[in-house]
Amino acid sequence: MALKNSCPGSREIRTPYPENITCFWCDTVNEIWSDEVEMVCKGCKKTISRDMKPTCIEWCPAAKECIGAEKYERLMKAKRK
Ligand SMILES: [Zn+2]
Repeated sequence: MALKNSCPGSREIRTPYPENITCFWCDTVNEIWSDEVEMVCKGCKKTISRDMKPTCIEWCPAAKECIGAEKYERLMKAKRK
C-alpha cells in the first residue's frame, strides 16, 4: 500500500530542511539543505562539503525509486569522492 512512502530513513532527503554549516576556511555560517552534500560558501566562495549522515539510501534496493533517480545519482556521486 503506502509502503514506498513511509520509509523514515529517506525523509530528510525527500523533504529537505535547512541546516547550518560553518565554512572550514573563513568561519562563515552558511545554510545548507539536508539533501545537499556540498555548497559554495557565501563568504569566501570556496566549496565546502560535509559528510552525509549514514542513510538507508546507500544500501536500500528501492532507494532509487524512493528519492528519485536524479537525487540518487547525485548523492552516490558525492559518496564516492
Ligand atoms: Zn568560507
